[in-house]
Amino acid sequence: MIVFDLICTEGHTFEGWFHDSSSYREQKRKDLIACPICNSTAVEKLPSTFAIKSSTGGGKPVPAEAITDLDPAKISQLQEKVSEFVRDHFEDVGCNFTKEALKIHYGVTEPRNIRGVSTREEEKVLDKEGVEYYKVPLPTPTESDG
Ligand SMILES: [Zn+2]
Repeated sequence: MIVFDLICTEGHTFEGWFHDSSSYREQKRKDLIACPICNSTAVEKLPSTFAIKSSTGGGKPVPAEAITDLDPAKISQLQEKVSEFVRDHFEDVGCNFTKEALKIHYGVTEPRNIRGVSTREEEKVLDKEGVEYYKVPLPTPTESDG
């Protein structure tokens, strides 16, 4: 027996037990699988895991991982676009990033886009407090190499 997490079109999730995955497919084809809540037979199998694992282990999902198929030129182009967007649309709070992020998180200040730097310790605080943030690979300040 295997158990699948299933979801109907109404968004109800429930567990379905099947002999094996082919009997799931057969029952689904015959509309034999119905949502126990709304009786809908339009159900889909949920992916067994939602977690996005980063290859570095325990890290945040970073955009760079999703675009590893692209050639390096395109990746750096994309990174440039992202950092340009962040530069133009996010208020630079510098070293106060963690403080400001927490203030926004707790509604002390207006929600707004901010950017800045944080230490690994500060990131742990943000994780613990459940603050959502993204790490953007910003290009290092250009060293004069030509
Ligand atoms: Zn349902």
